[in-house]
This record gives sequence, C-alpha cells and structure tokens, in this order.
Amino acid sequence: MISDGTPEYRFTPPGPRDEPKVVGECAWCGGEIYEGDEVTEMYTHYHTVHADCEHAYIESCTIKERGVVGADGTIE
Ligand SMILES: [Zn+2]
Repeated sequence: MISDGTPEYRFTPPGPRDEPKVVGECAWCGGEIYEGDEVTEMYTHYHTVHADCEHAYIESCTIKERGVVGADGTIE
C-alpha cells in the first residue's frame, strides 16, 4: 500500500507488498537476498553473495590449507 497520508494507511498492517522483494539467494549462506542488500558478484560461476559472506566464500574457493610448513614441504 502506498502512503497517501490517510488514517487508513497509518493503521493498515504491513502486507506482503510492503516487504523488501527477494531478488536472489546467497551462494554462501543460502539466505535470501533482498532488494537493497549490499552484495558481491563473483567470477566463480557468477555467484552472488551477501557482502558479509564475501570473505568466507572467497576463502573457501581459494585456500586449501594453512599451517606451518615442515622440512619436507608438508603443512602441519
Ligand atoms: Zn550470505
């Protein structure tokens, strides 16, 4: 409902049309992406993720292992 300044608008409970529109799904957390959300689109499969999910997504795509490397080159 569009506000027209009337008491009817002010006391109308929120309806589905007043909710932000769902425009996609985050490739990292699986949550809904709403119109107006800050997002990042990846080259990887052109996935779209929430801005807050960006680092975890990138890390999962690029980091194989972290640790201290030994004399034989293995990472522990
Ligand atoms: Zn997410």
